[in-house]
Amino acid sequence: MSDLLVKNAGLVGGGTSDILIKNGVIADVGPKIDGVAIDFPVIDAKGYLVTAPFVDSHFHLDATLSYGLPRVNQSGTLLEGIKLWGELKPHLTLDALVERALTLCRWSIARGTLAIRSHVDISHPSLLAAEAMLDVKRQMAPYIDFQLVAFPQDGLLRADSMDNLMRALDLGVDVVGGIPHFERTMEDGARSVAMLCEVAADRGLLVDMHCDESDDPMSRNVESLAKETTRLGMQGRVAGSHLTSMHSMDNYYVSKLLPLMREAELSVIANPLINITLQGRHETYPKRRGMTRVPEQIAAGLTVAFGHDCVMDPWYPLGSHDMLEVASMGLHVAQMTGIEQMHHCFDAVTYNPAKILHLPDYGLHKGCNGDLVILQANDVVDALRLKPARLAVVRRGKVISTTPAVKYDLTLDGQQVQTDLTSTDLVWR
Ligand SMILES: [Zn+2]
Repeated sequence: MSDLLVKNAGLVGGGTSDILIKNGVIADVGPKIDGVAIDFPVIDAKGYLVTAPFVDSHFHLDATLSYGLPRVNQSGTLLEGIKLWGELKPHLTLDALVERALTLCRWSIARGTLAIRSHVDISHPSLLAAEAMLDVKRQMAPYIDFQLVAFPQDGLLRADSMDNLMRALDLGVDVVGGIPHFERTMEDGARSVAMLCEVAADRGLLVDMHCDESDDPMSRNVESLAKETTRLGMQGRVAGSHLTSMHSMDNYYVSKLLPLMREAELSVIANPLINITLQGRHETYPKRRGMTRVPEQIAAGLTVAFGHDCVMDPWYPLGSHDMLEVASMGLHVAQMTGIEQMHHCFDAVTYNPAKILHLPDYGLHKGCNGDLVILQANDVVDALRLKPARLAVVRRGKVISTTPAVKYDLTLDGQQVQTDLTSTDLVWR
């Protein structure tokens, strides 16, 4: 727990402020903090944007960085990805799982992501992946807040995974997961949703299900998820991840569904990089985008976050765990280019996922954890546009990662010119 003073922090809402961190907690935020005896580090943010850390509300840490093992996904579909992961599973070792996950954690910290909810495949009775990810969670606890989700990748009923799931929760996995659209029938999907929500209600746990990750407009498990959430009084504690079938649903049905979701205070986690890559794969042209209806869900009063989902695994060959890349892709796919909408996209990788994860003391006001990221950007739009250097990443008042500011030196007509691509030099007229 350290002390730190950040001077001239650019704020998301505009203007600048000083931020004082004492014993790892934000002790004061004000236009000019003085009168404090300073015998600890001071950073001048020079007006650059300072944000609470990025939060990834949907990731697969057990599969990450396994791209090409044992082969590459040829069709690029979700279903081949699941098959490929099944081929890899018998060859996984605890050491390799932990090593790959720790590498990803280092990338996350460098990108300013200090909280991750990761689904963990519990389909195999050995629970090897759960054991490995619990180890990673322990090792990274000083730096990253992890939530692990017990995820029955092969289907709760289809692969008879309830016993594994309960044992994973007993081991310390935090959240109840599910995958109703992968069950054999819609009836089994609904039954799996009810069973899993009951487990969560009994144990007082949060729920986050892969739900309707499909282009099939008749994949309506989200309806069951909303119903069970309300029936069990779990409002505000349940998230539907992906919900891509909502993209393809009939508008009239969606006009009934959104109020049901609102009544259940269901949260939505879209995964723009992966949804735009995996959905619409059975089509020629025109091709659906496949991402869920983000602007309409926001308008309906739902909390919407964007997750990274995958980095270099059976489903996605790219990525560096940059939540600004995720927010930028979400903005493009959902066509959210209005100023307020762009701010929504930034919130979708900061405050909204923090709310969905029920992260305590998250934010940049007095009493919050002394965690923040200084970006080489003047404002939120710059951040989304440039995905800029994370100049400093601070955890509990201690700088844990730095990146030098990027400057470009040009020689034009014998003249030296410098630019950093930020909006500082723009003249609006
Ligand atoms: Zn996922």
